[in-house]
Amino acid sequence: MTNTTSLAFNTLPLNPATLDNLQQLGYLAMTPIQAASLPTALAGRDLIAQAQTGSGKTAAFGLALLERLNPRRFAVQALVLCPTRELADQVAVEVRRLARALDNIKVVTLCGGVALRGQRASLENGAHIVVGTPGRVMDHLARGYLTLDALSTLVLDEADRMLDMGFLDDIVTVTKQCPPERQTLLFSATYPEGIEKLAKQFMRTPEQITVADRAEKSLIEQRFYEVTRPTRFEVVAKLLNHFRPVSTLAFCNTKQQCKDLVSYLQDQGFSALALYGELEQRERDQVLAQFANRSTSVLVATDVASRGIDIKELSAVINVDITPDPEVHVHRIGRTGRAGESGLALSLAAMYEMGAVGKIEQYQQQPSTWHKLDELTPTGSGPLQPPMVTLQILGGRKEKIRPGDVLGALTADAGFSREQIGKIVVTEFTTFVAVQRDIAKEALQKLNAGKVKGKSVRVRLI
Ligand code: AMP
Repeated sequence: MTNTTSLAFNTLPLNPATLDNLQQLGYLAMTPIQAASLPTALAGRDLIAQAQTGSGKTAAFGLALLERLNPRRFAVQALVLCPTRELADQVAVEVRRLARALDNIKVVTLCGGVALRGQRASLENGAHIVVGTPGRVMDHLARGYLTLDALSTLVLDEADRMLDMGFLDDIVTVTKQCPPERQTLLFSATYPEGIEKLAKQFMRTPEQITVADRAEKSLIEQRFYEVTRPTRFEVVAKLLNHFRPVSTLAFCNTKQQCKDLVSYLQDQGFSALALYGELEQRERDQVLAQFANRSTSVLVATDVASRGIDIKELSAVINVDITPDPEVHVHRIGRTGRAGESGLALSLAAMYEMGAVGKIEQYQQQPSTWHKLDELTPTGSGPLQPPMVTLQILGGRKEKIRPGDVLGALTADAGFSREQIGKIVVTEFTTFVAVQRDIAKEALQKLNAGKVKGKSVRVRLI
């Protein structure tokens, strides 16, 4: 039991209300990254911590910044910079959860793709904590909507990804506007050179923390298959028909390869969508909604585009191309097998990629396990189909639609059961609702004939 005691949150100098709240949230013990970083962070020291999504890193910096916050001071006291809007949204949700026992703490997200005006209004109404992407935060600073004079904590979350995405200059600009006596907490999955430079320039004798997560890695089963360039896509289809994963994230090295694979898979009758850099925010939201609600079997993505996606219950990852960077490989396969679940990581390698496979073996310090292609026989009955179908309601937050209204229309009015309905995501102008495949047509008819929030709506199947 000594182990559990040392990992108990009440060994930390935390507000009693926060300790109660952690209990209620079911956070009974610290995760390794929390145990390693919270004592330093709560002591006010700068920190560089190596942590992946899913490690509990948000609470590691969230608890530290909340502890330093003065709720009665109506000024931005903490800023969290994130690489993507998805991640910023997740961070804001987690920080609000951690703050719910404290006095009325306001968290505002500032990300691109959304009108500046609404964000400006939120800032004017008073914000204690800002979570945002570097570009948009810089915009608000330049226009004078945001000031950082009262800042006590600056967090750089997923710093390596921010650098990869070309945010270095923006980060520098923003950081220069923070008071020099602030605390800086930097979280990163990897330590490329740029991180060190950033730390030297902006941090004060930071403590470095690394936590081994071997236990998590061992839950991922890795299988390698040798392919040739012309058969690569065929093998992807065979893997899908053999393993029949409900949700698969397939990585390609280029946008063109993503597009080509998606059209191949769609021609073969699979439900597949592509995610790559240049999609508009609206398209990106729709693709992610369809994948997260299990109405699309395969999401084919480039590494950059997949950043910040946090989809639970990902049954498989396929490396359609081997990445030349072993750290990226580990990051890719870490998307499956989250939270104690087992995961499947399937990698296709042609002769010319064997060098990259060798680097991966060295980096992971384990040999790769090769499997034969003729093991891949179709299982189950018929082609792989996702369990859900997405209906799109033409109307969203602007029409004041809430998830409960849609659920009500489908259960109370249309007579479906709660279990037949999946995720409901309301965006500004549109709403995505997942329903079980066998009720999709009927649900579509009933929604089109009925009312949501007292009004007729237009609904289509996507
Ligand atoms: P993160 O790595 O910050 O994205 O966190 C991953 C998930 O773990 C989130 O859903 C958190 O709510 C949850 N979490 C964080 N810390 C703890 C903890 N100490 N105990 C249980 N769950 C936690």
